[in-house]
Amino acid sequence: MTTLTNLLDLDPAQLVAYCGELGEKPFRAKQLQRWIHQFGASDFDAMTDLAKSLRDKLKTRAVIAAPAIISDHTSADGTRKWLVDVGQGNAVETVYIPEENRGTLCISTQAGCAVNCRFCSTGKQGFNRNLTVGEIIGQLWMAEFELRRTKGIEPGPKGERQITNVVMMGMGEPLLNYEPTVTALKLMLDDNAYGLSRRRVTLSTSGVVPMIDRLSQDCAVALAVSLHASNDPLRDGLVPLNKKYPLVELMDACRRYLEFAPRDFITFEYCMLDGVNDSDQHARELVALVQGSNPVPCKFNLIPFNPFPESGLIRSQNPRIKAFAQVLMNAGIVTTVRKTRGDDIDAACGQLAGEVKDRTRVQERMKKMADYQEKFGSNFGRIVEISS
Ligand code: SF4
Repeated sequence: MTTLTNLLDLDPAQLVAYCGELGEKPFRAKQLQRWIHQFGASDFDAMTDLAKSLRDKLKTRAVIAAPAIISDHTSADGTRKWLVDVGQGNAVETVYIPEENRGTLCISTQAGCAVNCRFCSTGKQGFNRNLTVGEIIGQLWMAEFELRRTKGIEPGPKGERQITNVVMMGMGEPLLNYEPTVTALKLMLDDNAYGLSRRRVTLSTSGVVPMIDRLSQDCAVALAVSLHASNDPLRDGLVPLNKKYPLVELMDACRRYLEFAPRDFITFEYCMLDGVNDSDQHARELVALVQGSNPVPCKFNLIPFNPFPESGLIRSQNPRIKAFAQVLMNAGIVTTVRKTRGDDIDAACGQLAGEVKDRTRVQERMKKMADYQEKFGSNFGRIVEISS
């Protein structure tokens, strides 16, 4: 039996090559790509401007298959979250966050994560496997066209685009699944697919220094770095990858990246952990780190920690977060405090609620969330807004 090729796995050049194998001209690949990524088509018969002979060939050899949806929830604030099946008993979360003038999709690149950051529930479940291109871009494909279907917006380039920004901040360390991640990024940027500008696509990394350099050459989108600590001993304990790529190397990599980046700053994400990394002294160390003799143009995004019992950590109090932000702002650093959206999605580089190893655990996970809310209050996992 022939294995069907999932066309979501192919980047533009691969699709041209694939059409070539079928004896078709390169422009057919463009048409096909538009049907797939701009019209959300998965049925070859719907591709009316392709010759019937080509459609028939495709039906026997190819498929357009995004990860199957296991669950689909919309919060009162409009945040929509899908749990999708990525096979072999694994599932990942994809989250859509609507805001006034944009819609952001947070996508995952790995099932689980090997980096094992201390404050991250994904890290606690360990690494399961890398996602394929089709599973990564398939999250965007699925979300864009599900959102359009829900709102009755026509597919195609004329219909109002629902997802204007993508952040690779879901489950996994994208730079440890490099090739599929970059291929998916290229599809996001391609004019015959999603046509997003590089400024509107952000990759978040825990600091895989050599791959930051590679990304700057292969597909320099906006970069966010999960920093979470102001000095090496502290970061060694929170983000174990720091032992391999300490802060001085990470800051150098950020400076190098900025020469190619679409934005003129790096976003540093900083999870606020009570009594661990949230003192004024830590904030002053951060200022010295990014504004010392060799500054790194940056913004800070402070993230109130979403506690889970196994971590042994708790969220910083709001007044502490405000005071910490003030030290950064007094030094002239643009600083925001992340509002969490929906019920359990305040994710910095994979801080998704985690226990999504397989579909049989969804109910268990929901129950766990209810337990957490009982234990930590109904605000567990919800937006903590800090008014200035
Ligand atoms: S924070 Fe990111 S890099 Fe760290 S364990 Fe979680 S998913 Fe992995």
